[in-house]
Order: sequence, then structure tokens, then C-alpha cells
Amino acid sequence: MDTPLTSRFSTVAFLGLGAMGFPMAGHLAARSRETGGRTLVWNRTPGRAEAHAAEFGSVAVTLQEAAGADLIVSCLPTSAEVDEVLDAVLGQLTPGSVWVDCTSGHPDAAPRQRDQLRTAGVRFVDAPVSGGTAAAKSGTLTVMVGGPQVEVEAVRPHLAFAGKLVRVGDTGAGFAVKAVNNALLAVNLWAAGEGLAILGLHGVQLGAALEVINASSGRSNTTENLIPQRVLTREFPATFGLGLLAKDAGIALDMAETARGSAPVIAQVTALYRAAARVIGAQEDHTAALKLIEQMNGVELK
Ligand code: NDP
Repeated sequence: MDTPLTSRFSTVAFLGLGAMGFPMAGHLAARSRETGGRTLVWNRTPGRAEAHAAEFGSVAVTLQEAAGADLIVSCLPTSAEVDEVLDAVLGQLTPGSVWVDCTSGHPDAAPRQRDQLRTAGVRFVDAPVSGGTAAAKSGTLTVMVGGPQVEVEAVRPHLAFAGKLVRVGDTGAGFAVKAVNNALLAVNLWAAGEGLAILGLHGVQLGAALEVINASSGRSNTTENLIPQRVLTREFPATFGLGLLAKDAGIALDMAETARGSAPVIAQVTALYRAAARVIGAQEDHTAALKLIEQMNGVELK
């Protein structure tokens, strides 16, 4: 039988203060101040946790101290890093607590992580997020959650960084929806980049072309926001790594393959983003993938 859930999550720990985790944990700290609880923060590079404590009034702690919290929220690059951290703290977790993983993880990892945590009396939900660093800062992220209803409802009021929270199914469903969402982002971004490269080769002014596309059926978030704000300006601000988007497309492709499905467009796009991550740089912003299209076509998208 499962250990009963802790009814009051008064101590919350956030693991991984990267581009997303840092502002997300800030919202948890603000909520703790209102409710009289505590938000503990841990980061592999401790200076970031100390900076968080100074900015948001959280408490910078060691990983072992964070492990004792009633609610643990993690946001790391991939499920592999979550596995590493989970292995390191398994013996120190509090029975009755819940681990919410906001990493854009792999659906295959989720049931394994759930079962491993269950041996320590801890529940697991996968809860990746969407909306980028802007929504992380404003506390309006879309959270897609996989796990049993009772656990999802127990943690819902505590995820103060959420603007919208949808339970999308059982364990792993959150990771699955996130991977497919980002595969669609990858497809849209790449397709728009190719389209604009063709127009550039034909001497069309790209700002004018986008004005038309964005009032027409070819538009998407990439043509409306990402390309005008990040590519045409040549700014490529590094808020979401190209390597992370390649990883997400690869997860969607894995999902197609394990179910013996056919997803040839996602397969192509995964290969293209992997190539872009190598050629352009995995740490560059995801929109910098279009620099590979520029190289392939000898045009600049500006
Ligand atoms: P970042 O690269 O900015 O941050 C990664 C974090 O993980 C850092 O805190 C880093 O610590 C930590 N980390 C890396 N490797 C390890 C390890 N081996 N052990 C422990 N900690 C580690 O990533 P993001 O915040 O951008 O992304 C986090 C997750 O959120 C990813 O799954 C991503 O796909 C997803 N995501 C990102 C979005 C975005 O716009 N950036 C939007 C939606 C989802 P350290 O400081 O020591 O390097």
C-alpha cells in the first residue's frame, strides 16, 4: 500500500535553477512567503542558488537538505540528469512527499522513476512546462501533467508558476505531450525558415513577406513571434537551447518508433536539428537552427 500523502506541503524544494528553474522557483518562494512555508533551492553550481536566495528570499541548501522537503520540484535538461539526482537522494526522501518533475523528460523514464520513488514512499508526477522564459518569469506557464488524479490535485495549488495546468493522462503523458508540442515547434520553425530562404533567394523583402504570411494561412507562432523577434533582428537571444529542442524532437521520434508508427517529417526534422546543434552550437538559441538553412542556401534571413 502507498504511504499516505502529506496533506500540507509546507517545505518545498526546487532542484535546477537554469533559465526556467530560476524564475519558476521564484514563484514558489513568493507563495511560501504568503503561506508561511519555506522554499529550499538547490543547483549543481551553488552560486546560482545563493543568487536565488538573495533575490527571492528562498533558502540555498545542499542536495541532501533539499531531499527532506514535502514537495520536490525538478527542472533539469533531460531525464538522465533527473535519474542521477534521484539516485543520489533516494535514501533521504520523506515518505508521503511528492516529486514533480518539470523537465521535458522522456515518457519511458516516468514509470521507472515513479516505481523507484515508490520504494521510498514518495509519489511522482511528470509536469513539463511550456511558454518559455517569459512565461516562467510572469508565472503563466502551461503545465501538462501526467499522473494519478489525486496526486495531480494535491500538488496543483502549490505550482505557483502555472497559468494553466492540465492533467493529460497517467504517468508519462505529460512528457509525451511536451515532446510532441516541441516537435511541432521544430517542424514549424524549420519550415518557415526554408520558406523565407526561398523568398530571400528570389529577392523578396522578408519583413513584407512575413506581414502577408501572418495575415494568411501559413502563419504560426514562429512566423508571428520567433522569427521577427529573434532571427530578422539577428539577436538570437539564448533562452531555449538548440540542443534541448533537438532532444525534444528526438523524444517524439522515439515515441513513434516504440509504437511502430510512421512520422517521416519528425524524423527528418530531428536529424536537421541534431545537425544544427553540432554545426551551429547546442547552447545557441533554438532559433539559431535557421543559420544552418542560411548556410545551405547562401542567404541571410534579415
Ligand atoms: P538550462 O540549461 O538553462 O539549465 C539547466 C539546469 O540543469 C541548470 O540548473 C544546470 O545546473 C542543471 N544541470 C545540468 N546538468 C546537471 C546535472 N548533471 N546534475 C544536476 N544539475 C544539472 O535549461 P533550461 O532551464 O532552459 O531547461 C530545463 C528544462 O526545461 C529542459 O528539459 C528544457 O527542455 C525545458 N524547457 C525549457 C524552456 C526554455 O525556454 N528554456 C521552455 C520549456 C521547457 P548548472 O547551473 O550547474 O549548469
